[in-house]
Amino acid sequence: MTCKEAEKLIPLFLDDDLDNHDLSDFLYHVEACPDCREELTIQFLVKVGMKRLEDGNTFNLRNELDALLHDAKKRLNAREYLVLSSYFLQAVVIALGGITLFLALFLS
Ligand SMILES: [Zn+2]
Repeated sequence: MTCKEAEKLIPLFLDDDLDNHDLSDFLYHVEACPDCREELTIQFLVKVGMKRLEDGNTFNLRNELDALLHDAKKRLNAREYLVLSSYFLQAVVIALGGITLFLALFLS
């Protein structure tokens, strides 16, 4: 992913609007790229931080952004786990179907 692409995804990321593939590329890029991480920090501050301060809440930018990135990664892992589980279940169903067919042919 290029910096231009990553920058375009920042608002989508903050709205939690990225699919697995984009989210994974985005997190990977932002971790490795100080420029995009800074841009993300700024946009995060504008979007979330200002709102918090308006509401009179305290706001720790660094901690909250880290928590957001951490959560995104956890969600990504959970989604990937679900996808893997469904592949696994499909494989089991296909295998059972094969065994059933084999038994049906063998026993008849
Ligand atoms: Zn970048």
